[in-house]
Amino acid sequence: MFCPKCRAEYRAGFVICAHCRKKLVRRLPPLETEPAPEYVAFYPLLATYNPGDIALIKSLLDGEGIVYFFQGEHFTYMRPLADPARLMVRTDQLPAAADILKDLDLSYVAINLEKHPPQPVDKRSKKRKDRPK
Ligand SMILES: [Zn+2]
Repeated sequence: MFCPKCRAEYRAGFVICAHCRKKLVRRLPPLETEPAPEYVAFYPLLATYNPGDIALIKSLLDGEGIVYFFQGEHFTYMRPLADPARLMVRTDQLPAAADILKDLDLSYVAINLEKHPPQPVDKRSKKRKDRPK
């Protein structure tokens, strides 16, 4: 028996979840929850030093339902000449996000508009030793 709320498993004989006071069910329904954020791959699409660009990008991506976040955004406000804020976009939405942003006249310092988003790195890239000159 399972609690439909907390999905705890109970031995036969139990009818109510001790935790949630929910009536136990024989089978759990399939999970409806959205994937946990830690399992979603994000990839840097662009980087900018300009807080105005960040605000513009946010408004555009929010309107299109793109899942993203800015990495190092607050750092940029504190130290404008330090590392730029990186726009991290969910990997499967990279093409859509790139399409939205491609026509903007932004002052971002680095763009990463690849046609094909990179695959998650599963091989350890070994650096080859420099050949003797
Ligand atoms: Zn429960």
